[in-house]
Amino acid sequence: MAKILLRHADVITLDTEGNVLRDADVAIDGGRIIALGAPPDGFLPDETVDAHEHILLPGFVNAHTHSPMTLFRGWAEELLRERWFNERVWMAETSVTADDVYWGAALAAVEMIRGGTTAFADQYFYMDRVAQVVVESGLRASLAWCTFGREEGEIGTDLPGIAAFVEEWQGAGDGRLRTALGPHSPYVCSPQFLARSAAVAVRLGAGIHIHAAETQAQVQNSILRNDLTPVEILDRNGIFDVPALVAHGIYLSDADIVILAAKHASVVQCATSQMKLGLGLTRVPELAAAGVNVALGTDSPATNTSLSMLQEARHAVLAQRLSRSNPGALPGDQALRMATQNGARALGFPTCGRIAPGYSADLVLIDCASARLIPRHDLVANVLFAAQDGDVSDVMVAGRWLMRRGRLLTLDEERIRAEAERRGSTLVGL
Ligand SMILES: [Zn+2]
Repeated sequence: MAKILLRHADVITLDTEGNVLRDADVAIDGGRIIALGAPPDGFLPDETVDAHEHILLPGFVNAHTHSPMTLFRGWAEELLRERWFNERVWMAETSVTADDVYWGAALAAVEMIRGGTTAFADQYFYMDRVAQVVVESGLRASLAWCTFGREEGEIGTDLPGIAAFVEEWQGAGDGRLRTALGPHSPYVCSPQFLARSAAVAVRLGAGIHIHAAETQAQVQNSILRNDLTPVEILDRNGIFDVPALVAHGIYLSDADIVILAAKHASVVQCATSQMKLGLGLTRVPELAAAGVNVALGTDSPATNTSLSMLQEARHAVLAQRLSRSNPGALPGDQALRMATQNGARALGFPTCGRIAPGYSADLVLIDCASARLIPRHDLVANVLFAAQDGDVSDVMVAGRWLMRRGRLLTLDEERIRAEAERRGSTLVGL
Protein backbone atom coordinates (compact mmCIF):
# COMPACT_ATOMS: atom_id res chain seq x y z
CA MET A 1 0.00 0.00 0.00
CA ALA A 2 1.24 3.45 -0.94
CA LYS A 3 3.01 5.79 1.45
CA ILE A 4 1.33 9.18 1.15
CA LEU A 5 2.36 12.54 2.57
CA LEU A 6 -0.22 15.33 2.75
CA ARG A 7 1.57 18.65 3.25
CA HIS A 8 0.63 22.09 4.61
CA ALA A 9 -2.99 21.26 5.50
CA ASP A 10 -5.13 22.98 8.11
CA VAL A 11 -6.26 19.95 10.11
CA ILE A 12 -9.37 19.54 12.22
CA THR A 13 -8.15 16.48 14.12
CA LEU A 14 -11.21 15.90 16.36
CA ASP A 15 -8.70 14.10 18.56
CA THR A 16 -8.31 16.41 21.51
CA GLU A 17 -10.56 19.23 22.57
CA GLY A 18 -10.75 22.00 19.98
CA ASN A 19 -7.68 20.64 18.30
CA VAL A 20 -6.92 22.39 15.04
CA LEU A 21 -3.43 22.26 13.57
CA ARG A 22 -2.41 24.86 10.99
CA ASP A 23 0.02 24.12 8.17
CA ALA A 24 0.52 20.52 9.27
CA ASP A 25 1.71 17.40 7.46
CA VAL A 26 -0.05 14.02 7.67
CA ALA A 27 1.92 10.86 6.87
CA ILE A 28 0.03 7.73 5.78
CA ASP A 29 1.37 4.21 5.46
CA GLY A 30 -0.45 0.87 5.18
CA GLY A 31 -3.82 2.63 5.09
CA ARG A 32 -3.21 4.28 8.46
CA ILE A 33 -2.14 7.67 9.69
CA ILE A 34 1.35 7.23 11.14
CA ALA A 35 2.29 10.83 11.93
CA LEU A 36 0.64 14.20 12.33
CA GLY A 37 2.39 17.59 12.32
CA ALA A 38 5.61 16.51 10.65
CA PRO A 39 6.53 13.26 8.85
CA PRO A 40 8.69 10.73 10.72
CA ASP A 41 12.43 10.77 10.05
CA GLY A 42 13.33 8.88 6.89
CA PHE A 43 9.73 8.71 5.61
CA LEU A 44 9.92 8.32 1.81
CA PRO A 45 6.45 8.86 0.33
CA ASP A 46 5.29 7.33 -2.95
CA GLU A 47 2.96 10.30 -3.35
CA THR A 48 3.18 13.83 -1.96
CA VAL A 49 0.10 16.06 -2.03
CA ASP A 50 0.22 19.79 -1.44
CA ALA A 51 -2.84 20.44 0.72
CA HIS A 52 -2.13 24.15 1.10
CA GLU A 53 -5.40 26.13 1.47
CA HIS A 54 -7.33 22.96 2.24
CA ILE A 55 -8.98 21.83 5.44
CA LEU A 56 -8.28 18.19 6.25
CA LEU A 57 -10.68 16.37 8.55
CA PRO A 58 -11.97 12.83 9.21
CA GLY A 59 -14.43 11.49 6.63
CA PHE A 60 -18.09 11.74 7.55
CA VAL A 61 -20.02 8.69 8.74
CA ASN A 62 -23.67 8.55 7.77
CA ALA A 63 -24.92 6.33 10.59
CA HIS A 64 -28.46 5.72 9.32
CA THR A 65 -29.73 5.59 5.79
CA HIS A 66 -31.56 3.45 3.25
CA SER A 67 -29.26 4.21 0.33
CA PRO A 68 -31.17 2.56 -2.58
CA MET A 69 -34.07 4.92 -1.85
CA THR A 70 -32.23 7.57 -3.87
CA LEU A 71 -34.56 6.24 -6.60
CA PHE A 72 -37.51 7.76 -4.66
CA ARG A 73 -35.86 11.13 -4.05
CA GLY A 74 -38.36 13.98 -3.98
CA TRP A 75 -41.26 11.76 -4.94
CA ALA A 76 -43.48 11.62 -1.85
CA GLU A 77 -43.10 14.99 -0.19
CA GLU A 78 -45.21 16.69 2.48
CA LEU A 79 -47.10 13.67 3.74
CA LEU A 80 -47.57 12.53 7.31
CA ARG A 81 -45.21 9.66 8.12
CA GLU A 82 -47.90 6.95 8.04
CA ARG A 83 -49.32 8.13 4.70
CA TRP A 84 -45.80 8.59 3.27
CA PHE A 85 -45.04 4.96 4.07
CA ASN A 86 -48.39 3.21 3.53
CA GLU A 87 -49.67 5.05 0.45
CA ARG A 88 -46.51 5.83 -1.48
CA VAL A 89 -43.23 4.24 -0.50
CA TRP A 90 -44.43 0.79 0.48
CA MET A 91 -46.49 0.51 -2.70
CA ALA A 92 -43.55 1.47 -4.91
CA GLU A 93 -41.10 -0.69 -2.95
CA THR A 94 -43.03 -3.87 -3.73
CA SER A 95 -41.76 -3.62 -7.33
CA VAL A 96 -38.11 -2.81 -6.49
CA THR A 97 -35.72 -5.37 -8.01
CA ALA A 98 -32.24 -6.42 -6.92
CA ASP A 99 -30.81 -4.48 -9.89
CA ASP A 100 -32.72 -1.34 -8.84
CA VAL A 101 -31.12 -1.67 -5.41
CA TYR A 102 -27.66 -1.92 -6.97
CA TRP A 103 -28.07 1.23 -9.10
CA GLY A 104 -29.85 3.17 -6.36
CA ALA A 105 -27.03 2.39 -3.91
CA ALA A 106 -24.44 3.24 -6.58
CA LEU A 107 -26.06 6.65 -7.06
CA ALA A 108 -25.95 7.11 -3.28
CA ALA A 109 -22.26 6.14 -3.27
CA VAL A 110 -21.51 8.84 -5.86
CA GLU A 111 -23.35 11.45 -3.82
CA MET A 112 -21.81 10.34 -0.53
CA ILE A 113 -18.23 10.35 -1.82
CA ARG A 114 -18.73 13.76 -3.43
CA GLY A 115 -20.00 15.07 -0.08
CA GLY A 116 -17.09 13.68 1.94
CA THR A 117 -18.84 10.65 3.44
CA THR A 118 -16.45 7.73 3.88
CA ALA A 119 -18.72 5.26 5.70
CA PHE A 120 -22.44 4.57 6.02
CA ALA A 121 -24.87 2.35 7.91
CA ASP A 122 -27.54 1.04 5.58
CA GLN A 123 -30.75 -0.87 6.18
CA TYR A 124 -32.73 -2.09 3.19
CA PHE A 125 -33.46 -5.16 1.04
CA TYR A 126 -31.25 -7.10 -1.41
CA MET A 127 -28.29 -5.99 0.67
CA ASP A 128 -25.94 -8.35 -1.16
CA ARG A 129 -26.25 -5.88 -4.06
CA VAL A 130 -25.42 -2.93 -1.78
CA ALA A 131 -22.44 -4.97 -0.56
CA GLN A 132 -21.29 -5.17 -4.17
CA VAL A 133 -21.43 -1.35 -4.39
CA VAL A 134 -19.42 -1.05 -1.17
CA VAL A 135 -16.70 -3.36 -2.46
CA GLU A 136 -16.53 -1.59 -5.83
CA SER A 137 -16.72 2.00 -4.54
CA GLY A 138 -14.08 1.63 -1.83
CA LEU A 139 -16.45 3.03 0.81
CA ARG A 140 -16.77 1.59 4.30
CA ALA A 141 -20.18 0.37 5.50
CA SER A 142 -22.29 -1.55 7.95
CA LEU A 143 -25.08 -3.26 6.05
CA ALA A 144 -28.25 -4.67 7.59
CA TRP A 145 -30.87 -6.59 5.62
CA CYS A 146 -34.20 -5.14 6.74
CA THR A 147 -36.66 -7.69 8.11
CA PHE A 148 -40.29 -7.47 9.14
CA GLY A 149 -41.71 -10.03 11.50
CA ARG A 150 -45.25 -9.89 12.72
CA GLU A 151 -46.41 -13.30 11.67
CA GLU A 152 -44.51 -16.51 11.12
CA GLY A 153 -43.70 -16.95 7.44
CA GLU A 154 -44.41 -13.31 6.51
CA ILE A 155 -42.20 -11.85 3.82
CA GLY A 156 -38.90 -10.65 5.19
CA THR A 157 -38.75 -13.08 8.08
CA ASP A 158 -36.22 -15.42 6.47
CA LEU A 159 -33.72 -15.43 9.32
CA PRO A 160 -31.61 -18.32 7.93
CA GLY A 161 -31.24 -16.36 4.67
CA ILE A 162 -30.33 -13.21 6.59
CA ALA A 163 -27.79 -15.15 8.64
CA ALA A 164 -26.19 -16.42 5.42
CA PHE A 165 -25.88 -12.83 4.16
CA VAL A 166 -24.33 -11.70 7.45
CA GLU A 167 -21.76 -14.48 7.38
CA GLU A 168 -20.91 -14.23 3.69
CA TRP A 169 -20.18 -10.50 3.63
CA GLN A 170 -18.78 -9.93 7.14
CA GLY A 171 -15.30 -8.42 6.67
CA ALA A 172 -15.49 -8.22 2.85
CA GLY A 173 -13.65 -5.48 0.95
CA ASP A 174 -10.49 -5.91 3.06
CA GLY A 175 -12.49 -5.39 6.25
CA ARG A 176 -14.33 -2.28 5.02
CA LEU A 177 -17.66 -4.06 5.14
CA ARG A 178 -19.45 -5.16 8.30
CA THR A 179 -22.86 -6.79 8.39
CA ALA A 180 -25.65 -6.57 10.94
CA LEU A 181 -29.16 -7.89 11.56
CA GLY A 182 -31.86 -5.41 10.58
CA PRO A 183 -35.22 -6.07 12.25
CA HIS A 184 -37.08 -2.93 11.17
CA SER A 185 -38.54 -1.75 14.49
CA PRO A 186 -40.52 -2.82 17.54
CA TYR A 187 -43.70 -1.49 15.89
CA VAL A 188 -43.29 -3.74 12.84
CA CYS A 189 -41.65 -6.76 14.48
CA SER A 190 -43.21 -8.90 17.20
CA PRO A 191 -41.30 -9.37 20.50
CA GLN A 192 -40.80 -13.03 19.52
CA PHE A 193 -39.24 -12.06 16.20
CA LEU A 194 -37.00 -9.48 17.90
CA ALA A 195 -35.81 -12.16 20.33
CA ARG A 196 -35.08 -14.58 17.48
CA SER A 197 -33.17 -11.88 15.58
CA ALA A 198 -31.15 -11.04 18.68
CA ALA A 199 -30.28 -14.72 19.20
CA VAL A 200 -28.98 -14.95 15.61
CA ALA A 201 -26.93 -11.76 16.10
CA VAL A 202 -25.39 -13.17 19.30
CA ARG A 203 -24.56 -16.45 17.57
CA LEU A 204 -22.92 -14.69 14.61
CA GLY A 205 -21.21 -11.97 16.64
CA ALA A 206 -23.02 -9.32 14.58
CA GLY A 207 -24.68 -6.07 15.56
CA ILE A 208 -28.27 -4.91 15.10
CA HIS A 209 -29.56 -1.86 13.21
CA ILE A 210 -33.13 -0.92 14.18
CA HIS A 211 -35.58 2.01 14.34
CA ALA A 212 -37.31 2.98 17.60
CA ALA A 213 -39.46 5.67 19.22
CA GLU A 214 -40.00 7.86 16.16
CA THR A 215 -43.44 9.10 17.16
CA GLN A 216 -45.41 9.63 20.34
CA ALA A 217 -48.09 7.28 18.97
CA GLN A 218 -45.58 4.44 18.67
CA VAL A 219 -44.64 4.85 22.33
CA GLN A 220 -48.28 5.04 23.44
CA ASN A 221 -49.23 1.94 21.44
CA SER A 222 -46.28 0.06 22.85
CA ILE A 223 -47.24 0.92 26.41
CA LEU A 224 -50.88 0.09 25.73
CA ARG A 225 -50.09 -3.28 24.16
CA ASN A 226 -47.11 -4.42 26.22
CA ASP A 227 -46.94 -2.09 29.22
CA LEU A 228 -43.39 -1.32 28.05
CA THR A 229 -41.78 1.50 26.06
CA PRO A 230 -40.21 0.59 22.69
CA VAL A 231 -36.73 0.73 24.24
CA GLU A 232 -37.87 -1.53 27.10
CA ILE A 233 -39.25 -4.00 24.51
CA LEU A 234 -35.90 -4.05 22.73
CA ASP A 235 -34.08 -4.52 26.03
CA ARG A 236 -36.36 -7.36 27.21
CA ASN A 237 -35.87 -9.20 23.91
CA GLY A 238 -32.09 -9.17 23.82
CA ILE A 239 -31.53 -6.51 21.15
CA PHE A 240 -28.99 -4.73 23.39
CA ASP A 241 -27.05 -7.94 24.07
CA VAL A 242 -25.13 -7.08 20.87
CA PRO A 243 -23.83 -3.71 19.61
CA ALA A 244 -27.08 -1.96 18.69
CA LEU A 245 -27.65 1.08 16.51
CA VAL A 246 -30.99 2.73 17.26
CA ALA A 247 -32.20 5.11 14.57
CA HIS A 248 -34.06 8.27 15.62
CA GLY A 249 -34.83 7.52 19.30
CA ILE A 250 -36.94 10.69 19.51
CA TYR A 251 -39.49 9.97 22.23
CA LEU A 252 -37.25 8.51 24.90
CA SER A 253 -38.02 8.54 28.61
CA ASP A 254 -35.32 9.17 31.21
CA ALA A 255 -35.51 5.46 32.02
CA ASP A 256 -34.98 4.60 28.34
CA ILE A 257 -31.82 6.73 28.32
CA VAL A 258 -30.51 4.89 31.38
CA ILE A 259 -31.05 1.55 29.59
CA LEU A 260 -29.36 2.75 26.38
CA ALA A 261 -26.34 4.01 28.35
CA ALA A 262 -26.04 0.85 30.45
CA LYS A 263 -26.25 -1.37 27.34
CA HIS A 264 -23.78 0.75 25.30
CA ALA A 265 -26.26 1.25 22.47
CA SER A 266 -25.74 3.99 19.88
CA VAL A 267 -28.53 6.42 19.00
CA VAL A 268 -28.59 8.08 15.58
CA GLN A 269 -30.35 11.41 15.21
CA CYS A 270 -31.48 12.23 11.66
CA ALA A 271 -32.31 15.90 12.20
CA THR A 272 -33.13 16.82 8.60
CA SER A 273 -35.48 13.90 8.05
CA GLN A 274 -37.05 14.32 11.50
CA MET A 275 -37.67 18.02 10.88
CA LYS A 276 -38.98 17.44 7.35
CA LEU A 277 -41.46 14.82 8.54
CA GLY A 278 -42.36 16.92 11.57
CA LEU A 279 -41.42 14.09 13.92
CA GLY A 280 -39.40 15.88 16.60
CA LEU A 281 -35.82 16.04 17.84
CA THR A 282 -33.71 13.43 19.56
CA ARG A 283 -32.69 14.37 23.12
CA VAL A 284 -29.06 14.69 22.10
CA PRO A 285 -27.75 16.68 25.11
CA GLU A 286 -29.40 14.31 27.63
CA LEU A 287 -28.19 11.20 25.78
CA ALA A 288 -24.65 12.55 25.50
CA ALA A 289 -24.64 13.56 29.18
CA ALA A 290 -25.69 10.00 30.10
CA GLY A 291 -22.76 8.62 28.11
CA VAL A 292 -24.74 7.28 25.16
CA ASN A 293 -22.87 7.30 21.85
CA VAL A 294 -24.91 9.67 19.67
CA ALA A 295 -24.23 9.74 15.94
CA LEU A 296 -25.82 11.45 12.95
CA GLY A 297 -27.51 10.05 9.86
CA THR A 298 -29.39 11.42 6.90
CA ASP A 299 -32.10 8.75 6.92
CA SER A 300 -33.33 7.79 3.47
CA PRO A 301 -32.98 10.16 0.53
CA ALA A 302 -36.72 9.66 0.05
CA THR A 303 -37.40 11.59 3.26
CA ASN A 304 -34.31 13.82 3.58
CA THR A 305 -33.97 14.33 -0.20
CA SER A 306 -30.19 14.67 0.34
CA LEU A 307 -27.36 12.48 1.63
CA SER A 308 -25.22 15.45 2.63
CA MET A 309 -23.55 14.95 6.00
CA LEU A 310 -22.38 18.57 6.03
CA GLN A 311 -26.03 19.57 5.91
CA GLU A 312 -26.91 16.94 8.50
CA ALA A 313 -24.31 18.17 11.00
CA ARG A 314 -25.44 21.77 10.41
CA HIS A 315 -29.08 20.89 10.97
CA ALA A 316 -28.22 18.87 14.08
CA VAL A 317 -26.68 21.97 15.63
CA LEU A 318 -29.26 24.49 14.44
CA ALA A 319 -32.23 22.36 15.51
CA GLN A 320 -30.93 21.75 19.04
CA ARG A 321 -30.01 25.40 19.54
CA LEU A 322 -33.36 26.66 18.26
CA SER A 323 -35.42 24.18 20.26
CA ARG A 324 -33.56 25.06 23.48
CA SER A 325 -33.11 28.79 22.76
CA ASN A 326 -29.46 28.27 23.59
CA PRO A 327 -26.52 28.96 21.22
CA GLY A 328 -24.37 26.62 23.31
CA ALA A 329 -26.82 23.69 23.22
CA LEU A 330 -24.67 21.66 20.82
CA PRO A 331 -21.08 22.93 20.29
CA GLY A 332 -19.72 22.77 16.74
CA ASP A 333 -16.87 20.39 17.42
CA GLN A 334 -19.25 18.02 19.23
CA ALA A 335 -21.46 17.95 16.13
CA LEU A 336 -18.44 17.13 13.96
CA ARG A 337 -17.48 14.32 16.34
CA MET A 338 -21.02 12.96 16.12
CA ALA A 339 -20.78 13.12 12.32
CA THR A 340 -17.45 11.25 12.25
CA GLN A 341 -16.01 9.22 15.16
CA ASN A 342 -19.32 8.58 16.96
CA GLY A 343 -20.76 7.22 13.72
CA ALA A 344 -17.66 5.10 13.16
CA ARG A 345 -18.08 3.63 16.65
CA ALA A 346 -21.76 2.92 15.99
CA LEU A 347 -20.85 1.04 12.79
CA GLY A 348 -18.13 -1.01 14.51
CA PHE A 349 -15.08 0.82 13.17
CA PRO A 350 -13.53 2.25 16.35
CA THR A 351 -10.23 3.21 14.68
CA CYS A 352 -11.90 5.63 12.24
CA GLY A 353 -13.02 9.21 12.76
CA ARG A 354 -9.94 11.03 14.05
CA ILE A 355 -6.86 12.46 12.41
CA ALA A 356 -4.35 10.90 14.77
CA PRO A 357 -1.52 8.35 14.57
CA GLY A 358 -2.87 4.80 14.55
CA TYR A 359 -6.22 5.78 13.08
CA SER A 360 -7.36 4.62 9.65
CA ALA A 361 -6.68 7.08 6.84
CA ASP A 362 -10.37 7.85 6.20
CA LEU A 363 -10.22 11.55 5.49
CA VAL A 364 -11.43 14.39 3.32
CA LEU A 365 -9.96 17.61 2.01
CA ILE A 366 -12.11 20.71 1.70
CA ASP A 367 -10.90 23.27 -0.82
CA CYS A 368 -10.93 26.72 0.79
CA ALA A 369 -10.82 28.61 -2.52
CA SER A 370 -14.51 29.49 -2.32
CA ALA A 371 -15.38 32.98 -1.05
CA ARG A 372 -17.71 31.40 1.53
CA LEU A 373 -14.72 29.81 3.30
CA ILE A 374 -12.61 32.98 3.58
CA PRO A 375 -11.19 34.11 5.98
CA ARG A 376 -10.25 31.10 8.07
CA HIS A 377 -10.63 32.37 11.65
CA ASP A 378 -12.62 29.38 12.87
CA LEU A 379 -12.27 26.25 10.76
CA VAL A 380 -14.98 24.32 12.62
CA ALA A 381 -17.49 27.15 12.04
CA ASN A 382 -16.51 27.42 8.38
CA VAL A 383 -16.99 23.68 7.81
CA LEU A 384 -20.18 23.42 9.82
CA PHE A 385 -22.02 26.53 8.68
CA ALA A 386 -20.53 27.57 5.32
CA ALA A 387 -18.98 24.61 3.48
CA GLN A 388 -21.03 22.78 0.88
CA ASP A 389 -20.62 19.31 -0.60
CA GLY A 390 -19.10 20.85 -3.73
CA ASP A 391 -16.20 22.22 -1.66
CA VAL A 392 -15.03 18.66 -0.89
CA SER A 393 -12.16 18.08 -3.31
CA ASP A 394 -10.56 14.81 -2.18
CA VAL A 395 -11.75 11.72 -0.31
CA MET A 396 -9.68 8.83 1.04
CA VAL A 397 -10.71 5.56 2.71
CA ALA A 398 -8.09 3.30 4.32
CA GLY A 399 -5.30 5.12 2.47
CA ARG A 400 -6.94 4.82 -0.97
CA TRP A 401 -8.20 7.83 -2.90
CA LEU A 402 -11.87 7.53 -3.90
CA MET A 403 -11.95 11.09 -5.21
CA ARG A 404 -9.00 13.23 -6.23
CA ARG A 405 -9.35 16.89 -7.23
CA GLY A 406 -13.09 16.45 -7.75
CA ARG A 407 -12.78 13.37 -9.94
CA LEU A 408 -14.27 10.03 -8.82
CA LEU A 409 -11.75 7.23 -9.18
CA THR A 410 -13.74 4.09 -8.38
CA LEU A 411 -17.20 4.58 -9.93
CA ASP A 412 -18.54 5.21 -13.43
CA GLU A 413 -20.54 8.28 -12.49
CA GLU A 414 -22.05 8.95 -15.92
CA ARG A 415 -23.45 5.45 -16.30
CA ILE A 416 -24.74 5.40 -12.70
CA ARG A 417 -26.57 8.71 -13.17
CA ALA A 418 -28.25 7.47 -16.37
CA GLU A 419 -29.28 4.06 -14.92
CA ALA A 420 -30.65 5.63 -11.73
CA GLU A 421 -32.66 8.25 -13.63
CA ARG A 422 -34.23 5.59 -15.84
CA ARG A 423 -34.98 3.15 -13.02
CA GLY A 424 -36.30 5.86 -10.69
CA SER A 425 -38.79 7.01 -13.33
CA THR A 426 -39.95 3.46 -14.04
CA LEU A 427 -40.48 2.70 -10.34
CA VAL A 428 -42.76 5.63 -9.68
CA GLY A 429 -44.60 5.06 -12.96
CA LEU A 430 -43.57 8.20 -14.84
ZN1 LIG B 1 -34.82 4.73 8.64
